[in-house]
Amino acid sequence: MKELNLVWKSDTKELFDSNWQAFKSANRLPPLAIEYIEKEWISRQIHFAHYSVNKYMHVDHLSSQRGESAHSKLKTWLETSTGNLLSCWMKLKESLLSMHKSYDNNMSQERIFCSGRIVNDPFYSSLTRKVSRFALREVQKQEQLFKERHAKKQSKPCTHQFRIIMGIPCSHELEELQTGNAATCHLEKKHFHPRWWLDKEVSTTAYRTY
Ligand SMILES: [Zn+2]
Repeated sequence: MKELNLVWKSDTKELFDSNWQAFKSANRLPPLAIEYIEKEWISRQIHFAHYSVNKYMHVDHLSSQRGESAHSKLKTWLETSTGNLLSCWMKLKESLLSMHKSYDNNMSQERIFCSGRIVNDPFYSSLTRKVSRFALREVQKQEQLFKERHAKKQSKPCTHQFRIIMGIPCSHELEELQTGNAATCHLEKKHFHPRWWLDKEVSTTAYRTY
């Protein structure tokens, strides 16, 4: 599926859309398959498409690297496992199920636990159980940065690097929010890249970039 890979590797959203349209109109796959890909993958492109992943997801590694590491795990496992097709299939199913289970566990942990500081602080409270705890810790570090700058009466121009790489508000954005008018003086889910959201929504239209 080299042509389909081209779609995922598109550098921009526009290119992605036009490559996908071209792929569809070339009738390389039956309509049901196209429908499946559209529903399950194209609608979630923000998590996989290179234009989106490369722009934002250098957090600790690229999203595609996560896929590659799962792939290499699978490959090593298949290469070292001996046995007939059925036993291979059973083992494969088992390992996929356990991966799913640990993902679900992590997500439910994220949804259950939230630090008291977030829940009780009106600046953060609307993010409670909506944004991952990792992102919340990072945004608190950014708050710390701008408070330190204030205390030392220093200023530092914004390079937007933190926002672009992490998809999380940087110290300057927080400063702007906290010194702005009272009505907007709090963080919302839309200030974070959908990568950090704990619900299933992946629409990027609600996501504000700076
Ligand atoms: Zn900044």
